[in-house]
Amino acid sequence: MSGYLTRFAPSPTGRLHLGHAVSAFNVWAAAQAAGGKIRLRIEDIDQTRCKPAFEAAILEDLRWLGLEWDGPVRRQSEHFAEYRAVLDTLRARGLIYRCFRTRREIAASLPAGADPDEAAFVSRPLPATEEAERLARNAPFAWRLSLERARAELGAQWASLAYTEETLAGPRIVRADPAPFGDVVLARKDTPASYHLACCHDDALQGITHVVRGEDLRDVTAIHAMLQALMSWPQPVYRFHPLMLGADGRKLSKRNADKSLDQYRSEGMTPEDIRSMTAPA
Ligand code: GLU
Repeated sequence: MSGYLTRFAPSPTGRLHLGHAVSAFNVWAAAQAAGGKIRLRIEDIDQTRCKPAFEAAILEDLRWLGLEWDGPVRRQSEHFAEYRAVLDTLRARGLIYRCFRTRREIAASLPAGADPDEAAFVSRPLPATEEAERLARNAPFAWRLSLERARAELGAQWASLAYTEETLAGPRIVRADPAPFGDVVLARKDTPASYHLACCHDDALQGITHVVRGEDLRDVTAIHAMLQALMSWPQPVYRFHPLMLGADGRKLSKRNADKSLDQYRSEGMTPEDIRSMTAPA
């Protein structure tokens, strides 16, 4: 039996749509080609946007597509203590700090039009008395990973941060530079972990050997390589699949209000129809 282990990791913020089907077909095809196994992981950290009903629907839609996973489903909302422990470790090592800047303050420090949630932002811990005063006021904050501290801690390893990408032409080593992302947010006052933290923690804990995900997550893999180095987590091999674009060339997504798989299903489409609609041109 092959030691290949991959995963499908949707967030239950809505029904699955064609973009998810593309991702799932890629994950299952890769596992099948390698004689490997697949874990299903529900990335439901954001409890305001994730709903149990959507999780049930994901399981139903995958089964309808004929995609069965191996072993129990991992639900991230049941593992907050594990993410907290990682944060505690990073904090004890002086790698993360509380950032009290509001979105508005961050936006004001950025070029016009830049998205404060996406832009690279570098800050520093507040002096202890000021921090205590804000905490006493119950002010919201983000836990940010200090790039400067991470770079110092990794020393010579920083320059060789990299990951292996599986391409059609074979594996290639990709240099990972997390600097353009600034001090990334790893948690917030009321959100126990960011996607980056929970995803890398779970890939390591679950022994995921191969990650198959969309091209849209290629760039953030540099952040993941840094976290893996800092936490001495094993690093999976990555493969990025092309995204399916809507007729107007935009990425398909729930926000674009594209039709969900269950809508296609209720219109009489079969799983095979979905497969041919999502097949690369
Ligand atoms: N929950 C993420 C998503 O739905 C998974 C990303 C990943 O595969 O790492 O986009």
